Amino acid sequence: MSADEETPEIDDEPVPCTVCRGTGTLISNLGGSPSDVECAWCEGTGVFLPEHDAQAAKRAAQGEGEPAADTAAEPAPE
Ligand SMILES: [Zn+2]
Repeated sequence: MSADEETPEIDDEPVPCTVCRGTGTLISNLGGSPSDVECAWCEGTGVFLPEHDAQAAKRAAQGEGEPAADTAAEPAPE
């Protein structure tokens, strides 16, 4: 018996992703027209991923090969 668990409230039941309501799909209005996109928070599974980093997934989708330098093309302030 190992009662040394950090999260005793954890359940085996999958938790529906609250961002997409368990559908795995989000409606993106980018560009002016709505389109279905895969939910980055659950990777389209519809199940909440506690340890998932949606920001990291986004960065990977935008260009994984780019150097991690802060060289964003920002317009120089006047
Ligand atoms: Zn989701």
